[in-house]
Amino acid sequence: MYDVIVVGARCAGAPLAMLLARAGHRVALADRASFPSDTMSTHFLWQRGAARLQAWGLLDRLRARGCAPIREITFDVGPVQISGIGPAVEGVADTYCPRRTVLDALLTEAAAESGAELIDGFVVRDMLWSEGRAVGVRGHRRESAESSLRARVVVGADGLHSTVARKVAARAYREHPPLTAVYYSYWSGIRHLGASFHARPGQLILVWPTNDDLTCIYVAWPRQEFSQVRKDTENHFHAALELVPGLRDTAASGRREARFTGTGDLPNLYRTSAGPGWALAGDAGHHKDPSTGMGISDAFQDAGLLAEALHDGLAGRRPMDDAISGYQHQRDSLTGSGFDLALTTARLAPVSPRLEAFYRTAAQQPEVSRRIFGVLGGSLPAADVYPDKPRRDSPHTGSCLPRRAQVTVASG
Ligand SMILES: Cc1cc2nc3c(=O)[nH]c(=O)nc-3n(C[C@H](O)[C@H](O)[C@H](O)COP(=O)(O)OP(=O)(O)OC[C@H]3O[C@@H](n4cnc5c(N)ncnc54)[C@H](O)[C@@H]3O)c2cc1C
Repeated sequence: MYDVIVVGARCAGAPLAMLLARAGHRVALADRASFPSDTMSTHFLWQRGAARLQAWGLLDRLRARGCAPIREITFDVGPVQISGIGPAVEGVADTYCPRRTVLDALLTEAAAESGAELIDGFVVRDMLWSEGRAVGVRGHRRESAESSLRARVVVGADGLHSTVARKVAARAYREHPPLTAVYYSYWSGIRHLGASFHARPGQLILVWPTNDDLTCIYVAWPRQEFSQVRKDTENHFHAALELVPGLRDTAASGRREARFTGTGDLPNLYRTSAGPGWALAGDAGHHKDPSTGMGISDAFQDAGLLAEALHDGLAGRRPMDDAISGYQHQRDSLTGSGFDLALTTARLAPVSPRLEAFYRTAAQQPEVSRRIFGVLGGSLPAADVYPDKPRRDSPHTGSCLPRRAQVTVASG
């Protein structure tokens, strides 16, 4: 009998299992995958995500695995480009782009070192219930017969298509259909490109250096173009690169090292994430378009919040179900504005004249551009930068039109 079974051992599940095990709880961490292994995701980790790794004692390990810090990002909306980086979060000044093979392996190792029992290659098929409460899971290892794991709480950290969410009938809310379709791949020999974010009407092109001296290039199209893009990804991809001066030629001067990976399955939604004996974390509980690169940082945040709530419940400081439901409220309030920002970005709309003027101001005032990057990085409330947006609890509030007066008086 475990205290907690965590289903899914990547960005949400592995740190949650690690934190609970460090707090002395008996934790099973089950995943159908084995590690190291890849998953469909690029890599951008804002300072607030890197700050969690630092707090958990894992950031030095990530750097030691060949993941170099990124100290400048270019944000290019066509007529205007700004470069910079946001203020440090909890002393972490840099952003990172670890390959998921590297990051997820590091997280599962840390969970196992902390005492969580890693059960990899284990597919969860169903939940166990007793008197209306979740009390475990049923599943199997590869070709083996089904077996059961029992616990006081089951956490689904099993991603967008969460089995746990389906089995507990978690209700979806704030649903919005997919807005983009995306493809990405990796190039060698073009590392000098650095990190950049290029917004064009109907297109988003992201470029990041990652492990093994590779550069990841990611392109987003409106979702309705997915079937066309899928039929001839290479040509569509190259046409998109042409929207950024010199990018297609630079990519052609390097070598593509992997096939194109992509999807049109990027819904935006929250799910009820707390119930009797169960909780959801990471993408299982809240999924959004990846254009703003916040999913990993949010999964880390969920892990921290849920670990505290479960520890309170397990230690008898609060009734368990109250603790888990408090987690869901905190999660919703901290992620709501980032969710809005992801929706705004994923619409791939042309930049309005007013927003363009704001970015022109930012291009001349490094402090303003620093604040724009700070909103994305989670170190600044967006209301300080985009004051037309009502203030929310979240530090990373969504994009909207700025009041010009606020732009010029921005201070650190
Ligand atoms: C194309 C793309 C690009 C992205 N780029 C970025 C980016 O640059 N930055 C960023 O922050 N975020 C990005 N994201 C989002 C990010 O990948 C997710 O938010 C993040 O992976 C969520 O982590 P998670 O642990 O919740 O879920 P996942 O990473 O999906 O992990 C879920 C795990 O659960 C396991 N699992 C599922 N079902 C079962 C089952 N029945 N039994 C056992 N195990 C199971 C899976 O094997 C998997 O290992 C991107 C996403 C996509 C699709």
